[in-house]
Amino acid sequence: MRELLEREMEALRIEILRCTLCGLHKHRKNPVVGEGSLHPKIFFIGEAPGRSEDAAGKPFVGSAGRIFDKMLESIGVKREEVYITNVVKCRPPGNRTPTNEEINACSKYLERQISLIKPRVVATLGSVALRWAGERFGIRQKGVSHLHGKIIHLDADYGRVFLVPLYHPAVALYNPGMINVLLKDIRKILEV
Ligand code: SF4
Repeated sequence: MRELLEREMEALRIEILRCTLCGLHKHRKNPVVGEGSLHPKIFFIGEAPGRSEDAAGKPFVGSAGRIFDKMLESIGVKREEVYITNVVKCRPPGNRTPTNEEINACSKYLERQISLIKPRVVATLGSVALRWAGERFGIRQKGVSHLHGKIIHLDADYGRVFLVPLYHPAVALYNPGMINVLLKDIRKILEV
């Protein structure tokens, strides 16, 4: 089973590396597929790669990544114990928000990552990821400002899921006071 999962994830990775389904492929240096444990304690979904992630081909390695690392550290979880990916796998120019067309084109990859990994704890980072998860898991749409730091119990097609909406770590780059909110919210995960 484990080998099959690894093979399917590798096939998916290669598919994403070659993907030209939306216009973002023209601007990217590297698609950011996602990385981490295939049996993760937490499955994190961000919005899209930024400049550093695009250059490295890895998720959350820039300044927002350093805040993300602090969040993980605060709950005693290592990067290799979680899986991290984004709704959209290629960097939107100038770090703009991905369009609905780009999200729709790319959604099938995140859907497959979730179908293969079947995560029990899904943490969304920011409003784009929360909106995507709301549609995927069929919950009523409310914004991250209402739902951050709450635990939403869901019955997914593969079993019980705990959804934990969080702000995107980048909010603390523009508003340093938000780091306390991020750290308080992520501690909620310890309850599940
Ligand atoms: Fe393909 Fe997604 Fe990249 Fe668009 S963003 S080119 S759909 S991998």
